[in-house]
Amino acid sequence: MIPYGFQWIDKEEIDAVVGVLRSDRITQGPCIEEFERAVAEYTQALHAVAFSSGTAALHAACAAAGVGTGDEAITSPLSFIASANCAVYMGARPVFADIEPASLTLDWRKAAKKVTPRTKAVIPVDFGGQPCALDEITALARQHGLVVIEDAAHALGAEYKGRLVGSRADMTILSFHPVKHITTGEGGMVLTNDAALHEKLARFRTHGIAREPSKLTRPDEGAWYYEMQELGYNYRITDIQCALGLAQLKKLDLFVKRRREIAGQYALAFSSLPGLRLPQESAGTRSSYHLYVLQLPIDRLKGGRRAFFDALVEWKLGVNVHYIPIHLQPYYQRRFGYRRGDFPLAEGYYDRAITIPLYPKMTDEDVRYVIASVSDVFRQLWT
Ligand SMILES: *Cc1c(COP(=O)(O)O)cnc(C)c1O
Repeated sequence: MIPYGFQWIDKEEIDAVVGVLRSDRITQGPCIEEFERAVAEYTQALHAVAFSSGTAALHAACAAAGVGTGDEAITSPLSFIASANCAVYMGARPVFADIEPASLTLDWRKAAKKVTPRTKAVIPVDFGGQPCALDEITALARQHGLVVIEDAAHALGAEYKGRLVGSRADMTILSFHPVKHITTGEGGMVLTNDAALHEKLARFRTHGIAREPSKLTRPDEGAWYYEMQELGYNYRITDIQCALGLAQLKKLDLFVKRRREIAGQYALAFSSLPGLRLPQESAGTRSSYHLYVLQLPIDRLKGGRRAFFDALVEWKLGVNVHYIPIHLQPYYQRRFGYRRGDFPLAEGYYDRAITIPLYPKMTDEDVRYVIASVSDVFRQLWT
């Protein structure tokens, strides 16, 4: 089976993890800050806070943005559910705006129509590694006093207008799940240039606890003293994970280069298949190709997407579908009243989409095998 995504871990990573296991601090030690500094430096963000997952990072970002009960946060229906759940965790309403069909990211014009006095944040998603229209979204946010939380779980190493993703939005979220660009097993991060947000994020990660004397109401109580000043969680990442992340980060450029190379080979090979829509890079951006999604001409394929998917599974390809639009999830329908038909572009995309394998450790032979299988199944089902 060739999976749709897979980690690349060598001896350096294993040695780094073993090094931490042999050390005194396996959590709350020095590796965490080292990893945060390294990712911040790489992305040119001023601050970084690492979390136990990308989902925890999104939750923390919503809390730091002041998203609360009765508020609204605007996001894309075409994402992993975590992009919207983070607003729900805070008691807010997730409000969706449909996608731009070319970039598959949040359409800022449609997002503009969803702004109300209750809107607190906008959470655009860099879908599949393709950066969203961040300048337009930021302009909209500034006009209405919203916080921009860029969900860049797919886009570490991607570029937007000549700069790496991570240093422009009020907060940028990363995930280090094994299918993402670099992994810590589970893990995530928030990047920000804002010192006040940085402080809130760090506190949220550890139960809302403050220890710096300047922040305490009773600073003279004693050396043991700390205060819980807000409600927080234990969303810490471990030093074991951060050692893995640090070793992975050294290979990120290589990983992205290889992903782009494979995407280029796919684009060339599949351009001859009629009616097939391939990922497109928006002007002024460089995708880091987390996913390679084909949009099938389902009306011309016998059995549609389902038959195409099942045939590729027969060929031992670990194909997938990214994503079922969030508003179609039963919980979202029941709790927030969303229905099929609400976001026709995301829904139309979903009906046509299939994700084929793309990860840096794929060999040239794997790539040729994927191309041959996809082309073969396409021709077999074509009518
Ligand atoms: C993976 C992912 C997340 C969540 O990350 P986890 O680390 O799995 O919690 C959030 N948003 C998007 C778009 C993702 O793909």
